[in-house]
Amino acid sequence: MPKPNPRHPNFPIPGGSELRAKGWRQEALLRLLENVLSVGEDPENLIVYAALGKAARNWAAHDAISRVLKTMDEDQTLIIQSGKPVGLLKTHDRAPLVIMANCNIVGQWAKAEYYYDLQEKGLICWGGLTAGAWQYIGSQGVIQGTYEIFMRIAEKRFGGSLAGRFILTAGLGGMGGAQPLAGRMAGAAILVVDIDPERVAKRQEIGFLDEVAPDLETALSMIDAAVQEKRAVSIGLVGNAAEIYPQIVRLGIVPDIVSDQTSAHDLVYGYVPKGMSLEEVHRLRKEGQGELMAASRASIVDHVRAMLTLQERGAEVFDNGNLIRTQAKQGGVENAFDIPIFTEAYLRPLFCKAIGPFRWMALSGAESDIARIDDLVLELFPDNFIVTNWIRLARENVPFEGLPARIAWLGHGERTQLALSVNELVASGELAGPIAFSRDHLDAGAMAHPNIMTENMKDGSDAIADWPLINAMTLCSSMADLVVIHSGGGGYAGYMTSAGVTIVAEGTEAAAERISHAITNDTSLGIIRYADAGYDEAIAAASLNAVGHLSVG
Ligand code: NAD
Repeated sequence: MPKPNPRHPNFPIPGGSELRAKGWRQEALLRLLENVLSVGEDPENLIVYAALGKAARNWAAHDAISRVLKTMDEDQTLIIQSGKPVGLLKTHDRAPLVIMANCNIVGQWAKAEYYYDLQEKGLICWGGLTAGAWQYIGSQGVIQGTYEIFMRIAEKRFGGSLAGRFILTAGLGGMGGAQPLAGRMAGAAILVVDIDPERVAKRQEIGFLDEVAPDLETALSMIDAAVQEKRAVSIGLVGNAAEIYPQIVRLGIVPDIVSDQTSAHDLVYGYVPKGMSLEEVHRLRKEGQGELMAASRASIVDHVRAMLTLQERGAEVFDNGNLIRTQAKQGGVENAFDIPIFTEAYLRPLFCKAIGPFRWMALSGAESDIARIDDLVLELFPDNFIVTNWIRLARENVPFEGLPARIAWLGHGERTQLALSVNELVASGELAGPIAFSRDHLDAGAMAHPNIMTENMKDGSDAIADWPLINAMTLCSSMADLVVIHSGGGGYAGYMTSAGVTIVAEGTEAAAERISHAITNDTSLGIIRYADAGYDEAIAAASLNAVGHLSVG
């Protein structure tokens, strides 16, 4: 039975043992589509996160996808183009059930304005990354990613602990909303600024923010008290980051860590310029996009200049993947890229071993399935500190949103081993239902994004988008259940291409075969991508694991 969803009453959380489709593979994808809406920011408009990231092009497209998933056979493949179903082809039962291409615009045309025009004409939609591919699991994925970044900074700069450290950041939206919890879990005192009081209230309601300060002065004294006591705390503040960050600079306060997750990537539908009310911004989104873009960029310039000053004064400052440096540079901040991107600064050594954001969702809706798999992870990988530490913290601190799910940064071999073991638990009836496996698109071989994932690659291959395309084709030929190629839309148009995958462990031998091929080849390709770029860790991982890397110089 679906469960009621207090946050979005019209979008119940899927679950139960009753199938509406002809098999669990189809039912799984249907539930994942329903799930991204149940945990999304604005499901009535099909928006899952990041201002424009949609689950389907429009409601007619959504309903048609849902209808086809319920009626299609296992030897058919549903073709989705930018959120709209366009074909149901006869393939075979080892082919993907769904393949998608979302928002891929030919190079010279891939600009925000051209995208908005296509969107207006109803010809395209942006799938974000995991939104349009029905793989988003609420804030948990990004909580873990952000937590991991904070912990890598703790190791690099602060002797392994963030107790008594002050993190300043902004943005409490679909993704950024994870920051306060991740900061608190990492032991820090974290202050998060957001212009929208509703977003702030929402994060307090679900317990990610401990308190909301009425003004900056109070916020800073609350942070100061927590820092003195080495107490972990998360504080929210309603305000514009382009005003608050410069004020903190003027006060001479230097946080230990500074970042930002406002939706700076989109100057029209994302970022809110300083001095403007939300009503004014909503009006200009319809009637004055040019004016709004100019105002947003001018504010981002101040915002990033303040971040650069804090960096000069000793703070660890990083870009968390929202294109804020790119926007600032286009606004004239020549040294915006002195701020490093989190992937290169902290995560690349993990990606070299294909260690990245793997995730699984309990399709029955039973939380006990996730608890059993948590135990399984601890049993299978007792020496993997990153994973065992996270699983222990997550089961205590991370509330489930939508279908119960878990994320963990597992690498090559580990992911396949876990998924095969889970498939056996499904077969033996130890779990209440099948489990879907997926991963973020920000994963080793899966994304070309020269301002995020592939910035400063050792061999200069930052902008080569062959890798995600090869990734998706490999996954199709490796029997994955859903395969997708996404490119950036809105403010991200022209900035990135990525591949996504979902595989359903339904407890059958066929599922074991799909898992073995698709998951193993996915991580193999991740190692190959970094080995090809000349990273020693990846070359070592390739020879250790015999991933099929052909080294031809
Ligand atoms: P969102 O649109 O749901 O939320 C953005 C939030 O920023 C909103 O709450 C908005 O009120 C706030 N905001 C906008 N302008 C502001 C300003 N000037 N001052 C203070 N608050 C302001 O977006 P999201 O899903 O949370 O994503 C945020 C950004 O992070 C996006 O650019 C997204 O693409 C990026 N992102 C990066 C990664 C990654 O690679 N690490 C992962 C996820 C999201």
